Amino acid sequence: MARAVILGGGESGFGSAVLAKSKGFDTFLSDSGKIAEKYVTKLEEYGICYEQGGHTEELILNADVVIKSPGIPDKAPMVKALREKGVEIISEIEFAGRYTKGKTVCITGSNGKTTTTTLTHRIFVDAGYDVAVGGNIGESFAFTVATADKEWYVLELSSFQLDGCYSFRADTAVLMNITPDHLDRYEYKFQNYIDSKMRVIRNQSSADTFIYCADDPATMQEMAKITPPMQCVAFGKQYIDSDGMIHIEAAGRKMVLDSKQIQIKGLHNYYNVMAAASAALTAGIAAESIEKSVYSFEGVEHRLEKVATINGVEYINDSKATNVDSVWYALESMTKPTIWIAGGTDKGNDYEPLRGFVEQKVKALVCMGVDNKKLVDYFGGIVPVYDTNSLEEAMKACREIATEGDTVLLSPACASFDLFKSYEDRGRKFKAAVLEEENK
Ligand code: ADP
Repeated sequence: MARAVILGGGESGFGSAVLAKSKGFDTFLSDSGKIAEKYVTKLEEYGICYEQGGHTEELILNADVVIKSPGIPDKAPMVKALREKGVEIISEIEFAGRYTKGKTVCITGSNGKTTTTTLTHRIFVDAGYDVAVGGNIGESFAFTVATADKEWYVLELSSFQLDGCYSFRADTAVLMNITPDHLDRYEYKFQNYIDSKMRVIRNQSSADTFIYCADDPATMQEMAKITPPMQCVAFGKQYIDSDGMIHIEAAGRKMVLDSKQIQIKGLHNYYNVMAAASAALTAGIAAESIEKSVYSFEGVEHRLEKVATINGVEYINDSKATNVDSVWYALESMTKPTIWIAGGTDKGNDYEPLRGFVEQKVKALVCMGVDNKKLVDYFGGIVPVYDTNSLEEAMKACREIATEGDTVLLSPACASFDLFKSYEDRGRKFKAAVLEEENK
């Protein structure tokens, strides 16, 4: 019996373990940390052997295949030991892809993945397709393949998931953009990260489709290097006319969307819509159906999410903006004087690209973090800066500064771990504070 070892006991690891067991592998899951209670219960329910709080070499190095969680870096000692021994190490996506005939729409990029994946999935569901969403959202791809295989999968793929893909092939690959992120995992070389993202088109042939952003310099630089065998569909500013009509063409079919009827605003969201609609046209979904789904889509929590308007001041939760590029798009979409809340754990940010928008649109910057020095130093001479160390202090500063007609935007450009558990925790606490204000 072949042995499958799964490293990491989160959503993806648990799903891989269920799939491995259902395919007759001698299955073992190992997590160096603590496995969340809900997965412990499920692993026991499925009769899967596991360990937590450390890796036992003898139970791992004898694997025929290792399915590694995207969160575990290559420099982890156990991964190094497995590589030295020549054991095959793959991602959940590669593993699950081996056991389904379902078609895949694989969405990657530095920003916009979740929004585009959620919208694409919505369009497919509304059109009556037998489809599941997976990757970073909801139940894992592997779990669905094991328990309720589908004809279609819409998958949100991070660069880490793509790194562990070798023979996996996307029927439709969507690349939103490539801007510096996670460089700590890529030897601080942007090209390594670009190469990882470009893996989304690996193995594609003439029957497959690649949807990409013609405005993204890194993508275009890579496109210039290859002769793509697959069908290529571009989206970008050039497809939006002066009346705000968005023109989309894929698989020999055309459609037009009216940006005024799209609820998610900003150029970045029009990119997301173009990408999702192109994927849907490629899958043969009728233009009228796509149109309906797009116009009714209200966006995803923590992504430029409107929270409330209090005394004429609009509050927007963009807690998921954890890098400079996503803040660029958030500020780009602001139409009113903006009080910008930023800060948290810095990921080696270069704030220069934001300078222009900050000069034009930002009335004040409210820093919210344990250490705000970098933000204060950078923007101090450009706009009024408030240095706060908690959500309460930040909200107090916003209340003092904001006047009717302003927007308060939480779009941090940083990770959340200094003051919060996660970006979701940060976003929810921000919303709760805003709503508390509303009820006063
Ligand atoms: P991801 O899943 O790639 O992190 P999300 O859809 O969750 O992307 O959006 C994350 C943040 O990035 C949002 O807060 C939004 O401001 C910004 N964003 C969304 N779509 C795009 C895009 N196409 N290009 C650049 N930034 C974007």
